[in-house]
Amino acid sequence: MKKYDVVIVGGGIIGGSIAFELTQRNLRVAVLDRQELMHEASWAAAGMLSPAPDCPAAIPLVPLGRASLALYRKFVDAVEDASGQRTGFRARGAVEVICHGDAGRELSTLVALHHGLGLACEPLPLEEAQEMEPALGREARAAAFLPDEASVNPRSLNSALLEASKMAGAELRPGAEVVSLLKDKKRCAGVKTAAGEAFSAGHVVLAAGCWTSQLSEVAPYAPTRPVRGQMVALKHAGAPIRRVLRSERGYIVPRDHETPQYLVAGSTLENAGYEKAVTSGGLEKILGAVNELAPSLAGAEILETWSGLRPGTPDQLPILGPTDIEGLMIATGHYRNGILLAPITAKLITEWITEGRTSLNCEDFSPLRFLRGNAEWSAKA
Ligand SMILES: Cc1cc2nc3c(=O)[nH]c(=O)nc-3n(C[C@H](O)[C@H](O)[C@H](O)COP(=O)(O)OP(=O)(O)OC[C@H]3O[C@@H](n4cnc5c(N)ncnc54)[C@H](O)[C@@H]3O)c2cc1C
Repeated sequence: MKKYDVVIVGGGIIGGSIAFELTQRNLRVAVLDRQELMHEASWAAAGMLSPAPDCPAAIPLVPLGRASLALYRKFVDAVEDASGQRTGFRARGAVEVICHGDAGRELSTLVALHHGLGLACEPLPLEEAQEMEPALGREARAAAFLPDEASVNPRSLNSALLEASKMAGAELRPGAEVVSLLKDKKRCAGVKTAAGEAFSAGHVVLAAGCWTSQLSEVAPYAPTRPVRGQMVALKHAGAPIRRVLRSERGYIVPRDHETPQYLVAGSTLENAGYEKAVTSGGLEKILGAVNELAPSLAGAEILETWSGLRPGTPDQLPILGPTDIEGLMIATGHYRNGILLAPITAKLITEWITEGRTSLNCEDFSPLRFLRGNAEWSAKA
């Protein structure tokens, strides 16, 4: 039987970032994925690095998001150095526009909410917004600048993470579907795959995205569910868009500075089970938002469409940390923020494994919260 310090189940950005961090500490690590690594939500993501909450339930996540954003530049530098690959990290801020309703009041609420959470956000006169980003349309009634926000190209970051982890000695195993835990008395001592292969480990980290709940022994700690998001890639021939552009209906994320420029736009939030179709309704919603934000993109060529499954949780918060089974840890449920939260997740899981404690209080994200309120969670799910 193969023996490791840590076996990670799931080779998305969360599993990949944890593997990178652990191999930097010289731990023997294996990452098992039932298919090619980095081909699910982490491949589908837009790559915005925004710690702002998108609903009241996400407010407890803000300190974790801010902590992760603060780590990002150092994290991508380390991954780029180790892999020799670029990640497309861009720290240029985001422009958020309001196109409907009482725009003045909504802008004040947006700014006050951000300031209350310690996030930088300034009102931006519309003429200045249009100077900063000439592609912005005339539909905007108010705008704000979020100077600390950034973006990354998730597909480039994923590839660099895998390369860096492999070069540092991690064993990457595509085609290894984990079906059960190996138990040694009450301890989790490793995992077993569908092909019958056993991997023994001092620690097992479950990072299988929205599929984590499909492992019956793990489901009580990680009641994840898929939330579909559709995306569109566009080729833009006008003056390049420099920053992330966002409205209440959608967003545009620039990937490069070229002309013609490669942009991605999204998204939808759909409960469609594990079905990854791209639908006409989904595309209509995304393209409607794009054309309202930047009407000149109505002539942009559609290069690619796709969808991915975000790992949702009943309370919209991630699931991070040890379970009450010794040796078993969870790192999933990052929902709309897994790209943003990858560096802090890797840091916290590494601290738990190497020091038995963390530098941040993670009580709100404990997998044990679902055991405490089991009836309540199953009712909500
Ligand atoms: C359209 C869209 C846009 C997004 N935009 C952003 C954004 O702008 N910013 C942001 O921060 N986040 C964004 N997200 C969210 C982000 O993509 C996710 O939170 C993140 O990718 C989750 O990473 P993960 O590693 O947990 O899951 P995944 O990337 O889904 O990886 C899980 C892996 O586990 C493997 N697996 C599953 N079951 C098993 C098993 N039994 N055995 C072995 N392997 C298994 C799967 O094959 C998969 O490779 C977006 C998501 C989507 C879909």
